[in-house]
Amino acid sequence: MCGIVGYVGGKEAYPIIIKGLKRLEYRGYDSAGVSIGNTKGIALLKQKGKVSDLEAYTEGREKSGSIGIGHTRWATHGVPNQVNAHPHLSGDGKLSLIHNGIIENYDSIKKALQSKGHIFNSDTDTEVLIHLIENIKNHEQVNLFESVRIALSEVIGAYAIVVMEEGVNNEFIAARKGSPLVIGVGRDEYYIASDASPIIEYTNEVVYLEDGEIARVNCEEVLEIKTITNKIITPYIQELKLSLDTIEKGGFSHFMLKEIYEQPKSILDTMRGRIDTESKEIKLGGISDYEQKIINADRIIIVACGTSWHAGLIGEYLLEDLARIPVEVEYASEFRYRNPIIRETDVVLAISQSGETADTLAALALAKQKGATVLGICNVVGSSIPRLTDGGIYTHAGPEIGVASTKAFTTQVVVLTLMSLRIAKQKGTLSNTNYHQLITQLELIPEKVERVLQTNDQIEKIAKQFKDVSNFLYLGRGYNFPVALEGALKLKEISYIHAEGYPAAEMKHGPIALIDADMPIVVIATKKGNYEKILSNIQEVKSRGGRLIAIVTEGDKTVKELADYCIEIPNCFEELTPLLSNIPLQLLSYHIALMRGCNVDQPRNLAKSVTVE
Ligand code: GLU
Repeated sequence: MCGIVGYVGGKEAYPIIIKGLKRLEYRGYDSAGVSIGNTKGIALLKQKGKVSDLEAYTEGREKSGSIGIGHTRWATHGVPNQVNAHPHLSGDGKLSLIHNGIIENYDSIKKALQSKGHIFNSDTDTEVLIHLIENIKNHEQVNLFESVRIALSEVIGAYAIVVMEEGVNNEFIAARKGSPLVIGVGRDEYYIASDASPIIEYTNEVVYLEDGEIARVNCEEVLEIKTITNKIITPYIQELKLSLDTIEKGGFSHFMLKEIYEQPKSILDTMRGRIDTESKEIKLGGISDYEQKIINADRIIIVACGTSWHAGLIGEYLLEDLARIPVEVEYASEFRYRNPIIRETDVVLAISQSGETADTLAALALAKQKGATVLGICNVVGSSIPRLTDGGIYTHAGPEIGVASTKAFTTQVVVLTLMSLRIAKQKGTLSNTNYHQLITQLELIPEKVERVLQTNDQIEKIAKQFKDVSNFLYLGRGYNFPVALEGALKLKEISYIHAEGYPAAEMKHGPIALIDADMPIVVIATKKGNYEKILSNIQEVKSRGGRLIAIVTEGDKTVKELADYCIEIPNCFEELTPLLSNIPLQLLSYHIALMRGCNVDQPRNLAKSVTVE
């Protein structure tokens, strides 16, 4: 999820682009770069790090010109360094491209182009696209607008792109599919950006490019738009009435809420290019060299902290259940300090959103030193954990700004599901029928998450009833026990209400003593997975006067009669329920915290990336 800014018109492009990129830094800050066109050609300037690092780098360098494109990167393919920073150039250096998204079939296109003599400098999928456009432009003898159109018809994946050409200082070409792009219409000038925040101070007339559309943006002409299938589109200019702050948060009042709502898309991005559309085979390139090691492992030790540790617990259920490999889930901080037994036949899997969590990193280093195979599941490409591990899988959730993790957790669980399914299939512990059923269900999850999000208003009303309590208990069993833990953690983190997660059956060994009419209990009671047992646990709570909020499967009648409040989630296989059942709990915490006047995005005493031990 990168930030894109472009300008063409009569003003100096560089300051406009830099200012815009700073507003888009919430979308990524691995590296930044610009291409500025002037009569001498294109000045390409890029630097690892934040936009301010780029600014320092460009100090004293030639960067004047009235056309330019700029990019702040959230790496997906290739580590964050200067070479992999955008813009990327065509082989002859005449075309310059910025890209937000993932070109799924970049590898096959790259090989085909290499066989034609193309040489690539970076590890990105993006550079492949600009070479493809160049190849089409040179061989088909068509203009840039048409070359981009033909190239995109060969591309699978998600993108927002802007391309400019050396010597053409009045025009750039832009296109989108799956990643946002908005064009600002000024007088004899145009702006373009990933959201309207870089544009709003110059013009409030905008055109939102739709999926599958390509625009020729020429400051001397009216905007021209066509589809990839070559249909002419009349641009629809609309007036923007939003404030800057609202735009950066995509119209949401907090990053946390935005990230909760992003989950259908993040889950799709996590699965993108990893499930073959025809055969349904799962491809996880980052661990393929270690697949046999995993299959033959004596055990998998998952090391993590906080929310990632909860994802790890779900991973334990999945890997043991589907792939029949013994799994232990360890708090990284405990594991590293207790002289653990680590063997060369162990696979140690670290989970961390940032890839920088100090304890997890140290636990991993210890495991590596003892000869175990070390793997990682992280969101931030090129961070310390991926650099230390033998292999791993990125979640591709995009930057998570809210300190309380939401989409990172869900996508970690998606990765663990994909990994368990892949290993189970290779190991033969899952029948073909079950495998296909599970994959089909997994592919339906984004749409089901979308439906769960529609319960937001109902959850807000429930939150109002409970915002002033001092304690909460969360109960779940099986796959939903870790969800109960995560739900409690989320509430603690952002609302400062004391909350505990418990396996529902364990309640009677202690916490039941706490239950009275003041104690709200959230119980995950979905149809599959110990439903009858959890019904008994609900009865136990009820008979002690506890107030019950239940997460149930659509159409459930039994729990509805017992619980004070019921939130329905769509039916799905038990193995996949955490992907749905955790969403209402995120929303519940969010609303309660908000009603208590807490700083939702930056809760007290916490930090996003815990780089201290
Ligand atoms: N895939 C491109 C890269 O890694 C763009 C990244 C993105 O938009 O997330 O550079």
